Amino acid sequence: MSIALDLSMPPNPRATAPGRPSLVGLNRTELAKSLAGAGIAGDRDAKMRANQIWNWVYHHGVTDFERMSNIQKGVRAQLADAFQLDRPEIVSEQVSVDGTRKWLFRYRDPKNPRLPPVEVETVYIPEEDRGTLCVSSQVGCTLTCSFCHTGTQRLVRNLTAGEILGQVLMARERLGDFPGGVRPTDGLVPAPRGSGGSEGDSRAITNVVMMGMGEPLYNYDNVKEALLIASDEAGISLSKRRITLSTSGVVPYIEPTGREIGVMLAISLHAVRDELRDMLVPINKKYPLKELLEACRTYPGLSNARRITFEYVMLKDINDSDADARELVRLLKNIPAKINLIPFNPWPGTNYDCSSSERIERFADIVNRAGYASPVRTPRGRDIFAACGQLKSETERLRKTEREALTA
Ligand code: SF4
Repeated sequence: MSIALDLSMPPNPRATAPGRPSLVGLNRTELAKSLAGAGIAGDRDAKMRANQIWNWVYHHGVTDFERMSNIQKGVRAQLADAFQLDRPEIVSEQVSVDGTRKWLFRYRDPKNPRLPPVEVETVYIPEEDRGTLCVSSQVGCTLTCSFCHTGTQRLVRNLTAGEILGQVLMARERLGDFPGGVRPTDGLVPAPRGSGGSEGDSRAITNVVMMGMGEPLYNYDNVKEALLIASDEAGISLSKRRITLSTSGVVPYIEPTGREIGVMLAISLHAVRDELRDMLVPINKKYPLKELLEACRTYPGLSNARRITFEYVMLKDINDSDADARELVRLLKNIPAKINLIPFNPWPGTNYDCSSSERIERFADIVNRAGYASPVRTPRGRDIFAACGQLKSETERLRKTEREALTA
C-alpha cells in the first residue's frame, strides 16, 4: 500500500508571477550580469552580491529575498521587485511501502505564462546510509524505447536549467535536507548529521541520477548548467562522482559530457546486437553499438575508479539468454564497467514480461565470472509507479495551431 498526499495548493503568487525572471539556474556570471543589468549592483560589487545570493539559494534553500539577512533591507526589496526564486509547484507526493517517494511537479512556461503548465515526475530512493534522487530533464521524450513508459509520451518541451534544479531544491526542502530542516517521518530518510551517521551519509540526498523522464543529452546545455550548479561547492555541493547522467546513446554528446560536466556516465544498453537494440532503443539506428562503445572507451576521466554503468533491463525471452550475457562481456572488453541488471518493471499496455529470477541470476553469474560487477537492481517504488522505466505525466503536446493561438 502507498500513501498519496494531495498537496495541491493555490500557486504561490510571488513564485509564479509572470514578468519577473527567476535567478534559479543562472550560473554565477549570468547572475552577476542580471544584478548589474537591473541596477541592483555595480560592476564592482555584482560578483560579491551574486555569491551571497548563490549561498542563500543553494546552500540554505531560501526562496524569499527577505530572509537574506546579510544583504541590506533596501537591496532585498529591489531584488524582490526585479526577480523571483522560482520553484515548481508540488501537485502530489506519494510514499511507497518501501520508502521510495515520488513527486509530481508542475511548471509554468517561463517565457509565456499563457501556455498550459507542464508536469514531470521526480523520484527519491532512500537506503539506510544514502539517498538517490532521480531527476527528469524533459517533459515526455522524443525517443521511443519500447520497454519504457516515458517513451509513450511525446516530447512536450525541454526543462530549463532552473526547472531541473528546482526538482533538487524542492526534494531537499521536503526531505529536510537544508540546514535546520526536519526529516519527514512518513518514510525512510537517512539520518541527519549528528545522529550517528558519518559526514558522508548525513545528507538525505547523497546522489543524483539524471534518469527520470527524457533523454538528458537532447537537452545538453540546460542539463550541463544544472549539474555544474548542483556540484558547486558553495551551494548544493554534490560531488561529481555522486552525479550520474544516463543516456540512451547520443554519441556526439558523450565526450563533451565527460570533458565539460565531468560527471559519471551510465548507458541504457539493454541489447548486445544491433537488430535487437534498434527495436528496444531506436536511437541505435542512428548511433549503432560500435560507435556507442567507442565513445565509451574514450570517455574523458574513465578509469577503474570511475567506471561506466551499463543499464540492462531483463526482458523475458528477448535479451536474457546465456549467449546475450557472453556477448555483453565480449562487447565491454577493455571498458572499466559495471553492469546494472534491472528486472523489468511493467506498466499499463506493455507487451514485455520480466525475466524469471533464476534467469536473471544465471545471466548475472556469467557476467560476474567474467570479472564485472553486475548487481541486480531491487525494484523500488513499484506500488506507486516510481520504478525504473515507469515514469510518465499527463502533459500533452499542444497542436501547432493551439500553441500559436496562445503565443500570439
Ligand atoms: S528510456 Fe529514456 S530515452 Fe528511452 S524513451 Fe525512456 S526516457 Fe526516453
